[in-house]
Amino acid sequence: MRQRLSSEPDRYRGRRRVPTPPRSRYAAVVTTAFVGAGIVALGANALPDAKSVSPSVLDELRQASVAGQDAAARADSADRANRDERSTDSDATEQDPWLLPLHGYDFKAPYGMRWGKLHTGIDLVAPEGTPYKAIHAGTVTKAGWFGGYGYAVIVKHSDGSEAIYGHSSVVTVKEGQEVKAGDQLGLVGNTGHSYGSHLHLEVHVNGQPRDPVPFLQDHGVDIKLETEAIYADVVPS
Ligand SMILES: [Zn+2]
Repeated sequence: MRQRLSSEPDRYRGRRRVPTPPRSRYAAVVTTAFVGAGIVALGANALPDAKSVSPSVLDELRQASVAGQDAAARADSADRANRDERSTDSDATEQDPWLLPLHGYDFKAPYGMRWGKLHTGIDLVAPEGTPYKAIHAGTVTKAGWFGGYGYAVIVKHSDGSEAIYGHSSVVTVKEGQEVKAGDQLGLVGNTGHSYGSHLHLEVHVNGQPRDPVPFLQDHGVDIKLETEAIYADVVPS
């Protein structure tokens, strides 16, 4: 986890982590605005809904609104060609967010050794039939029965990483389909080697499983606290 000083000039950095408690209203408001209004439209529509939220949350949303307008203005700006590679990367990332796959789950089994073998993902317990969504844009490379994963969806992202969503009751996408973050992929279920209705989420980098918790934290999503950033990781790498 990167530590930031509040005096740092980069205005994106201060709100990469959401300072509000788990299951916060903030996450719900942001998600609704995100899905409903798109990224650059966020703010104007989201703020009235946020009036009952604490001042710090409102402040977060105002910053987001300003940033969204800035992003739109920059996109139209005539000096677009003068921007360096880093700012181009940031713009691309803002339009390509990372999100939670669903809300209202119980984080159950972490990544790591379990019952004498490696549990290669995390388990998010939710009722059967709960829709789950793509955590990031990409191409569906698998949609169907996948051994112990039951009915599963695999999405390959543009950065080469892959997300596997297992134990679905139903998958609602087809192989080869392009999806955006937040697009529904299937419904939570209990198929394959599963002990109860839950979403098994797995992240692979270079074909190897990674602990999704720190991986997603690096992209602005805290899957244990069930929070997601307005934008994905916009810190230039
Ligand atoms: Zn699992």
